[in-house]
Amino acid sequence: MTALRIDVADLLAHRTTRREVALSATVEGLVATAARVGDDEPIALDLVLERISDGIVVRGTLTTRWGSDCSVCLDPIEQPLSLAVNELFEPEPLEGDTYPIEDHEIDLEQLVRDNVILELPLAPVCADTGAPPCVDPADARAEPPPPDPRWAALSQLQLPEVDEGDAATEASGSERRELASERVSAGRPALSRLARPATSERDT
Ligand SMILES: [Zn+2]
Repeated sequence: MTALRIDVADLLAHRTTRREVALSATVEGLVATAARVGDDEPIALDLVLERISDGIVVRGTLTTRWGSDCSVCLDPIEQPLSLAVNELFEPEPLEGDTYPIEDHEIDLEQLVRDNVILELPLAPVCADTGAPPCVDPADARAEPPPPDPRWAALSQLQLPEVDEGDAATEASGSERRELASERVSAGRPALSRLARPATSERDT
């Protein structure tokens, strides 16, 4: 008999009774797509079991922690989880809706399993823990997108114009290209002058 299996013979013997149950247990295999509650992670149950005509209502809270890798940056993250439960146990349970009372006992393991797995986030991220949004390492490494090929020729033309942008505004495309290549060679001495430290320019 596991910690989550509870004898309710006392509740079944009287029509209106209730009992508080506080216990801690572990449940293996609480795994969603990414997040999981570790097999050794305690799950605290703070419950009230109440006899009603149809069976026993189990109400209260489950408290535990889940862990995961962030689905963006893959860092490990961990978060507390607290959830309210409200389920009916009855001698003839409805499949997928209520839970069984068997031999004067109820087994809370399936209740824990169903409720916790439903609450586990599908794609946890660092921001779920209150941290600032994280950056995908693949995005951080990525090169800037290549320039639009339609602009490639234009950017070649514009380089000389930045240095000495007086003439060539009226020139056609082919004339500009010639002017540009002339300027690149003619501009070399000027560029090397510019490369000197500014102080030497002022001093001379
Ligand atoms: Zn992250």
